[in-house]
Amino acid sequence: MSRVVFSPAPVSFLSLLALTAGCSGDSSPAPPNVVFIFADDLGYADLSSYGSRTIATPNLDRMASEGARFTQFYVASSVCTPSRASLLTGRYPIRMPIDPRGVFFPDSTGGLPLSEVTIAEVLRERGYVTALVGKWHLGHLPELLPMQQGFDSFYGLPYSNDMDEPHYPGQPAPVHPCNSLFPDCRPGAPLMENEQIVEMPVLQESLTRRYTERAIDVMRSAVAQDRPFFLYYANNFPHTPLYASDAFRGTSADGLYGDVVEELDWSVGEILGEIEALGIDEETLVVFTSDNGPWLLWATDAPVPQGGLDGGSAEPLRDGKSTSFEGGLRVPLIARWPGRIPAGRTVEAPAVMTDWLPTLAAFAGASLPSGVEIDGKDIGPVLEGRGDRDPPEGFRHLIYRSDNSGLAGYREGRWKLKLAVAGGESVYSRYDHGDLLFDLEADPGEQNDLAASLPEKLAEMKRHMTALAAEVEVANR
Ligand code: MG
Repeated sequence: MSRVVFSPAPVSFLSLLALTAGCSGDSSPAPPNVVFIFADDLGYADLSSYGSRTIATPNLDRMASEGARFTQFYVASSVCTPSRASLLTGRYPIRMPIDPRGVFFPDSTGGLPLSEVTIAEVLRERGYVTALVGKWHLGHLPELLPMQQGFDSFYGLPYSNDMDEPHYPGQPAPVHPCNSLFPDCRPGAPLMENEQIVEMPVLQESLTRRYTERAIDVMRSAVAQDRPFFLYYANNFPHTPLYASDAFRGTSADGLYGDVVEELDWSVGEILGEIEALGIDEETLVVFTSDNGPWLLWATDAPVPQGGLDGGSAEPLRDGKSTSFEGGLRVPLIARWPGRIPAGRTVEAPAVMTDWLPTLAAFAGASLPSGVEIDGKDIGPVLEGRGDRDPPEGFRHLIYRSDNSGLAGYREGRWKLKLAVAGGESVYSRYDHGDLLFDLEADPGEQNDLAASLPEKLAEMKRHMTALAAEVEVANR
C-alpha cells in the first residue's frame, strides 16, 4: 500500500482522461510502452556487441544498432536484491533495509518496504498495464509480493533460481537436501502466478520459453485494451544453476553459459518481433540490461563441487559480482525506441540504474513520487541525443558495499576511489587491499593504482564522497 501522495500530473484532467482511454486528439505525446528486460548476473562482455567472441547475440546486437548502447552504465549494487530495489525505486539501496546477508533468502521475513514507490506504481497512475514476468527478489511473503508494489500481474520466481522452497513464518521450515553448491541437484524454488505457487520445484529448462510466451501475452492483452504497458521482464538467467531448452543446449561456442545467453537473446528477438507485429514499434521503448556483473565464482575451477565454466565475463573490466570493482558494477545497457532514440549510437557518458524511474516517469508524463528523495536523474535527453545527464563538473556517484552495510567507494568524473577492504569485500571476494585510486578514462581495467602517487586527489575524493553520502544518508533511511 503506497503511503505517498502523488502531485497532479503535468497534463490537464481532460487530456489525462483522453490518454488513459486511448482517445486521439490530444496534443501531448502518448505515454510509451516500456519493456524493461533485466538479465541476472550477465557480465559486461557477455554480448557480441560488448566484445564477446564466443557468445552470439544477434538480436541484442540488432537492438543496439537500432538504438543506443551505453559503455558506462552502472548498477547501484553488485548483487541481486539491492540492485533490483534501486531500479524500481530510483534510490540508493542504502536507503532501504535489506537482509544483512546482502540479498533476500527463502527464510527472509523482509522485503522492499511498501512505503517505497516503484516504477510500476508511478506508471500505473498514468493508466499503464503493469506486469512482472520473471524474478522479483524483493520479499517472498504474501504481503511483499509484486502485486503489493504496483504490478497488476506476476509470473515468475520470488527470488533466485538457485534458492529453495519458501519458508513462511509459523510453518515448519522446508527440508530440501540440496542447493546450487551440489552438482546435479535441482533447487526447490517455486514458480508463482500472482500470489499462488503453480510449480515447485520450477522446471527451469523451459523457463525462458515460458517467460517469452507470457511476455508476449502481456503485450497483446494491453494492446487489445488500448492501454500503454510496463512489462518488467526479469529473466532468471544466466544466474546459476544454468538450464537451457533442448533447442539451445550444446549449440553455442561457450558451453552451457553461452547456450543460456543465446536463448535469452532469442527471447529478446521474439519480443522485438512481436512489438513489430503489433504495430507498436514507434510507441515502445525497449531496454536491456543486467542486475550486476558476472558471478566469477562459477567461471573458474574454484573449490566448489560444481566448478566448471558457468560464469560470464566482464573483460577488460576487473573482477565481478559482489565486488565494487568495475566488473561488478558496470553492465551492458541497450535502449531502443525507433523515432525517439537515434539509431546506432554509443553513449560513453556514465549513467546509473537509479536513473530509470525519473526517466520513465518523464517519458510517461507522470509525476515523481512526492516526499521521496530520488537519487537518479532523467536520462531521456541523453537517450534522445539532445543533452547531458550531468553538469560540466561531471558525474558523481556513491558506490555501496554489496551487503548494503556502507560505502565502498566513489566515482567523480574520470576518477574512482575504492575504499580499503579488510576481511574481504564479500563472501565471494575475500582478498583485502588499501585505498585505491583509479583514472578510469586512462585505465578502465583498474590495473594502475594511483593512491600513493596522487595523495591530494585521494584526499579530495574522500572529502567529496563523505559530503555527498551525508546528504544521501541523512534522509529516508
Ligand atoms: Mg544478479
